[in-house]
Amino acid sequence: MTLHASKLAEDLNLNNIVSRQFDKAAAMLKLPEGLLKQIKVCNTVYMVQFPVRFGDKYEIFTGWRAEHSQHKKPVKGGIRYSETVTQEDVMALATLMTYKCAIVNVPFGGAKGGVRLNPRSYSPEQLEKITRRYTAELIKKGFIGPGIDVPAPDYGTGEREMAWIADTYDAFHPGEIDNLGCVTGKPISQGGIRGRREATGRGIQFALREVFRNEQDLKKIKLSPGLSEKTVIVQGLGNVGYYAALFLEEEEGCKIVGIAEYEGGIFDARGLRVKDVFHYRKEKGSLLNFPGARNFKDSIALLEEDCDILIPAALENQITLENARNIKAKVLAEGANGPTTPEAEEILMKKGVFVIPDIYLNAGGVTVSYFEWLKNLSHVRFGRMEKRREEQTMANLVQTIEDAVGKKLPEHVKKKIGRGPSELDLVNSGLEETMIEAYHEIRNIMETRKNVTDLRTASYIDAIEKVATSYLELGVFP
Ligand code: NAD
Repeated sequence: MTLHASKLAEDLNLNNIVSRQFDKAAAMLKLPEGLLKQIKVCNTVYMVQFPVRFGDKYEIFTGWRAEHSQHKKPVKGGIRYSETVTQEDVMALATLMTYKCAIVNVPFGGAKGGVRLNPRSYSPEQLEKITRRYTAELIKKGFIGPGIDVPAPDYGTGEREMAWIADTYDAFHPGEIDNLGCVTGKPISQGGIRGRREATGRGIQFALREVFRNEQDLKKIKLSPGLSEKTVIVQGLGNVGYYAALFLEEEEGCKIVGIAEYEGGIFDARGLRVKDVFHYRKEKGSLLNFPGARNFKDSIALLEEDCDILIPAALENQITLENARNIKAKVLAEGANGPTTPEAEEILMKKGVFVIPDIYLNAGGVTVSYFEWLKNLSHVRFGRMEKRREEQTMANLVQTIEDAVGKKLPEHVKKKIGRGPSELDLVNSGLEETMIEAYHEIRNIMETRKNVTDLRTASYIDAIEKVATSYLELGVFP
């Protein structure tokens, strides 16, 4: 099929895709039609066009903030800087945020923001001006605030932008002590939390670790348990893709055989060192010609290479009718939001590919954002109050055991068990618990509900039921 023909044959609009996925799950539930409609629609969208002056010229930018559902408050979701972002994308991504929060039991509604621009075309000073002005627009209309709507990073934004947003919000709300809770994903020195930067990738690692513990599921896809030596291809070496690949390589013993970026891809069956590729790309401006690796000038073609796990972690609509038949991976782990079209997913299912859906798999970011928000509102670092106390308790216990058995424990063992938890330990522990618990919730739905054969539908069912319970308890739909 030609590229043109296939694009005609499938709808690549993320809003329509999310809507179809919702309908598939909703049809299996016995909930009032009006309630399902309410859970489906995006409640509020704010569109703004604002000017920014660069020297003696003005440029007009278009931005959005969509709030999908206020069944829990605040609402939460990233801000995307991309020259292709549309209002419909932002609405669809806000919708996914509602479901994502419900799946990982984060007590927020969903939201998403976007500004149409290519961040690579602007200097840091220009991006700061744009970000501050966009934030001011959100403040003016009540689309940001620690109890209202709390943005975070997404494609094209990061800690730097979040710090600018926090500072702008603070300037407009002098003396209000919870101001830092107006945005998450901030630098640690500006109220951020250890582990947030890498949280989405870390969540992918924890989820995959859990998936690869289940012999029954792995047998179906002819893979042995455990992540060690599993081959992985990652698309996107940004926040999500980089950390997912790094942890899988360094901590789980996976072989990262392929990395795709927008300028091209590289493949090495012996396994790539993710850190080296990252530094190489930073220095050369491209990952092509990485020593020892095979080049893929057509980056997307790399997704069709041999591997056990494929992680699209860049953009939506990367696995379509165009390439689904050629995908060789046995597990598709959706790091990005909406990387697979429904038509492509159908093909993958028939091929027996195990698809771990975005609304579950990349929820590590919002989970740790929730922890950051809690830290900001409590004004104290996790672990600060109890770390020393726990160390003392453990030292007393070790001493008691040593006295009782008349033997000394080796120093390295004492050091290991006697260390109180740091903020990062607690964040990762909370994240691991969240990802494992949520995985079993959705897997259980897939295993026990009639006609549910995939994790995505199971995830939607989980989310819809939880949001429905909220609405019903609030009394909106008696
Ligand atoms: P990012 O901007 O940090 O990284 C994206 C990377 O993808 C960049 O390195 C970019 O160069 C690369 N890229 C762009 N076009 C590409 C192409 N055609 N082929 C290959 N690579 C390409 O963004 P991110 O925060 O890592 O987000 C990536 C995806 O994950 C998005 O879909 C986002 O919505 C989703 N997501 C992000 C988070 C988060 O915490 N950052 C959380 C959940 C979901």
